[in-house]
This record gives sequence, C-alpha cells and structure tokens, in this order.
Amino acid sequence: MENMANKVARIPNLVDWSTGEVRLMSAKCASCGTYFFPREHYQHRPGCSREGVENVLLPGKGKLASYTVQYYPCPAPFRTDKKITPYGIGLVEFEAEKIQITGIITETDLKSLKVGMEMETTVLDLYVNEEKQEVVTWAFKAVL
Ligand SMILES: [Zn+2]
Repeated sequence: MENMANKVARIPNLVDWSTGEVRLMSAKCASCGTYFFPREHYQHRPGCSREGVENVLLPGKGKLASYTVQYYPCPAPFRTDKKITPYGIGLVEFEAEKIQITGIITETDLKSLKVGMEMETTVLDLYVNEEKQEVVTWAFKAVL
C-alpha cells in the first residue's frame, strides 16, 4: 500500500486504512443481517427493529458488478485539482455481505474493465488542504 501517513479522508467514517489495507467502513444489523454503507444509514430495511447494529470493515476486495465511463469532470460538490477524466465509475459487489458500493475506478486501463473482475478498494487523491495533507476519497482499482 502507498504511504498513507499524510492522507486524510474527505468525509470521515467512510474509509479506513488503519489496518494496512484500505477498507470501507460498513455496519451490520444483528436483527436482519443486512450490511449497509455508509454505516450511519440506519433506515436499511422497513420493519426491522435495527437492534444490535455493529460497525464492520468490508473486505478489501470485491467483484465489479457494473460500470460506466465518464468523459466530463465530476460536478460540485466533488472537488479535485487532478485531471481524472475520463474515469470509470464502478459498482463493486462484496458477495458474502450482499452489498454493492459505487466508487471511482483508478489506475486502470478503462478498456480492460470487465464485469465480474476482481477489484480492490483504494483511495483517490483529490487535493491538498490548508494543513498540507492530501485529501482522499475511497475508490476501486482492478486487480490485475
Ligand atoms: Zn436490520
């Protein structure tokens, strides 16, 4: 994994790299077994008592369930000073958890993307803040 020492998440409580692996911060409901993301999203299933919700980290790898390629910059409030177009947006499935999460696809030849390929959770550098920290968001890259 790249050096994460001077990186800070754009939005807190979505992505974690404290274990040495970049992983999305999810939660699991003990009442119905549903995983959800972001983990603050407690209205996950109508009728569920939502008792026993616990924070969990998703596995570092999932499978590409769907994707598209964008040829224009992300609209505000998304902010980056990097030129990232064109870029892929992938829907990555974490099979055992039965959850699919959308994210920008990085470091990938976009023509090589295939539904079903293995994807790894990573971070995308967005911009440097006033404290000289690299502000990042979660993203996915193909496991080649
Ligand atoms: Zn539930």
